[in-house]
Amino acid sequence: MTRREVELLAIGAGPSNLGLAAALEELAPDLADNTLIIDRNPTIEWQSGLLLPWAKSQVSFLKDLVTLRNPRSRFTFLNFLKSTGRLDDFINLGNQSPYRLEISAYLNWVAESLARVRVELGQTCVSIDPVRSATGTLTGWVTRLADGSSIASRYLVIATGRDPNIPPVLAGLPPNRVIHSTRYRPGIAGLQRQLPYRLALIGSSQSAAEVFRALRTDLPDSDVAWVMRSIGPTADPSSKFTNELYYPSYVDEFFDTPATGRALIRQELYKTNYSCMTPAMLQSLYTDFYRDRLNHRYDRRLITMTEVTAAREDNGEVVLELTDRKSGAVSELRRDMVFLGTGFNWQPPKLVQGLADAIGLDRVEVTRGYRLQIDEPTEAACYLQGINEATHGIGDSLLSVLAHRAKDITLDVLAHRAAMQDGTGVRATAHGANTLEQIAGR
Ligand SMILES: Cc1cc2nc3c(=O)[nH]c(=O)nc-3n(C[C@H](O)[C@H](O)[C@H](O)COP(=O)(O)OP(=O)(O)OC[C@H]3O[C@@H](n4cnc5c(N)ncnc54)[C@H](O)[C@@H]3O)c2cc1C
Repeated sequence: MTRREVELLAIGAGPSNLGLAAALEELAPDLADNTLIIDRNPTIEWQSGLLLPWAKSQVSFLKDLVTLRNPRSRFTFLNFLKSTGRLDDFINLGNQSPYRLEISAYLNWVAESLARVRVELGQTCVSIDPVRSATGTLTGWVTRLADGSSIASRYLVIATGRDPNIPPVLAGLPPNRVIHSTRYRPGIAGLQRQLPYRLALIGSSQSAAEVFRALRTDLPDSDVAWVMRSIGPTADPSSKFTNELYYPSYVDEFFDTPATGRALIRQELYKTNYSCMTPAMLQSLYTDFYRDRLNHRYDRRLITMTEVTAAREDNGEVVLELTDRKSGAVSELRRDMVFLGTGFNWQPPKLVQGLADAIGLDRVEVTRGYRLQIDEPTEAACYLQGINEATHGIGDSLLSVLAHRAKDITLDVLAHRAAMQDGTGVRATAHGANTLEQIAGR
């Protein structure tokens, strides 16, 4: 089987690694020339499972892959609009939040506009092995792909998103009966629109709300029971004040806060990003409910303050055991399919955990420069994007910080490279062996 080598391999062609590609082309062109991005999908799409025609980005178009780092970049969202003849229409609509489909097209345009970094699609990474020299020093990585080939690299950047959260109580159900929101579109494509399915939807996130809304048109004759632990769908309580904690400039302050303080901040901010929905979505959901009642339709309903406490398949149907949190009363709900809007797993993705196990790490933590902390001198480095909320703050999984993060990673790789050329090994400690300021001043 083929084995190739690049200097930097980036796994995942989502916003994080495409933002990195733009930063590499602008700040480190020779490194960009020897960088490859791979993605398992055959096309570049943003959140392809929930790429719904009416869904919008929840952040300003100015939080694109580059503007906050370099507003003069040729990879801006505005340049994309100009290049594709849509600038007038976008301005005329007068809305800061693009449709998800527009962001998706923008990502694809950025990938196609790259002059140095290569992008290969349809390449699924299945595992990553460390490479060691005869003396045991970590010198690089071998990334193994599903087709049996492999790619060796000194630098690795993993931005594969987080793994879907399947609540343990539902994990035993047959996979063909359960559709997580990340697989909504392919899942729906396998069902028959005209059939009156009995469906359960679990969770109270924005994704759950989007699934609930989409089911109205995708499976219009189905009966949908939307089950949630909370008292009911609620709007995101953020304000312009709390939004400041999503700024890239807040990352330093958060990183330097003691762990107990960080945990407290995350707890305070939790509802501004999780288990809530946009006020616009809430209004549209309620309007739909209102019209259902007006039309005497009761086949879309909410079951609130309720926990799913057991689940099994019985005679071709899913049986959910529901426990009413108010009274403790237990009941059964028999369904054909279960949809999950239960978000993402907080643990590192399996791919990252596998890598950590392979190099004997007992925890997955990165430096301020997003470099995986490896407690030994190494000639290789691995960077993690989008899964460092505990150390880098609430914006870490979002578009908000990724333009700056791309710069941080680029500078850290350059620092590591320079240290290698000096012959001084590098040990990744919390703030990195070389601070970003030192490198920026070179
Ligand atoms: C439905 C939804 C809506 C969202 N809306 C917003 C929003 O409006 N604003 C905002 O700021 N954030 C939003 N987010 C958060 C989102 O995480 C970020 O916007 C952004 O997509 C993160 O980019 P990323 O590149 O880190 O990860 P992702 O966008 O998740 O991209 C990961 C990429 O890795 C690929 N991949 C995964 N595993 C492998 C593998 N083993 N081998 C090869 N490739 C692999 C995937 O195919 C994918 O292309 C949303 C998230 C969801 C789920």
